[in-house]
Amino acid sequence: MELTYADVRAAREVVRRHLPPTPMWSYPLLDRTTGATVLVKHENTQPVGAFKVRGGLTLLAARPDRARGTVTYSTGNHALSLAYASQVFGAPCTVVMPAAANPAKAAAVEALGATVVLTGAGLAAAEQHAVRLAAETGARLVSPGDTLELLAGVGTLYQEILEARPDLDAIVVPVGSGTGAAAATVVAKELAPRCQIIAVQSASSPAAHDSWRDQSPVVRPNRTRVDGLATGRGFALPQHHMRDLADFVLVTDDQITVGRRVLARDAHTLAEGAGAAPLAAVLADPERFAGRTIAVVCTGGNASPAELASLSD
Ligand SMILES: *Cc1c(COP(=O)(O)O)cnc(C)c1O
Repeated sequence: MELTYADVRAAREVVRRHLPPTPMWSYPLLDRTTGATVLVKHENTQPVGAFKVRGGLTLLAARPDRARGTVTYSTGNHALSLAYASQVFGAPCTVVMPAAANPAKAAAVEALGATVVLTGAGLAAAEQHAVRLAAETGARLVSPGDTLELLAGVGTLYQEILEARPDLDAIVVPVGSGTGAAAATVVAKELAPRCQIIAVQSASSPAAHDSWRDQSPVVRPNRTRVDGLATGRGFALPQHHMRDLADFVLVTDDQITVGRRVLARDAHTLAEGAGAAPLAAVLADPERFAGRTIAVVCTGGNASPAELASLSD
């Protein structure tokens, strides 16, 4: 199982039936702050507030047996994506979330018509429960990381970026399970081979980073407060493609908070933490990016009230 550019091109036909391309803008103040030319790709404007909706729609569209329903596990945006797509296609959907999940995200998943089960201390317990539910009900278990259609769908985001700007020096991509970064490598290889794909994860949840470094999926502590980046293990399929990354960097949760503040101040953009991690990586290493033309993917805008409150220091 491997993602190809043809898979991404096919997904584009599905995605464009449901979603317009998202905007990508640069901001003079942000360029001045970073010393680079920075294009912000605004996935925070998607209907569920995050890029993952591209993957959910692609997955549901590809399933002739979707009436049997899906079961998945998530801290938030993957759940919203699958719930949204299931509503579009009239299919049942159950999401298992950790008991302490962001209540606003859980409420939003329910509002889309999905069934939410809140259980366990973390994502690993939620996964175990989802596996049991799928076995009992016959619904299809959807892995948030190792599902080819999800990678194909989120790849359309990188196709939009690189069709508009094949001259980019780099794209900085936030990583949880790695679907976005993996798809970005496949698309860049085809459309802009000299554009570097640079991944970024929280140092408090480095499972994907360490799996990339060690070239084999590992389990790591998962303590970040940034829920889009909160993954405790590497996923094999995205890791396979992430070997083609130009680099993979870690930032602290506090650096991500600074990234959110700068995005709000210089680009009038309210990002959730994961959506500001790419800018945090740029701010953390200004020499590397000085004078270059780069895209930072603002992957999501589903900030919790606590995140919004922390915008003013
Ligand atoms: C899921 C998510 C990520 C990480 O994406 P992966 O494909 O899991 O690596 C980044 N940002 C946001 C907003 C997300 O929801």
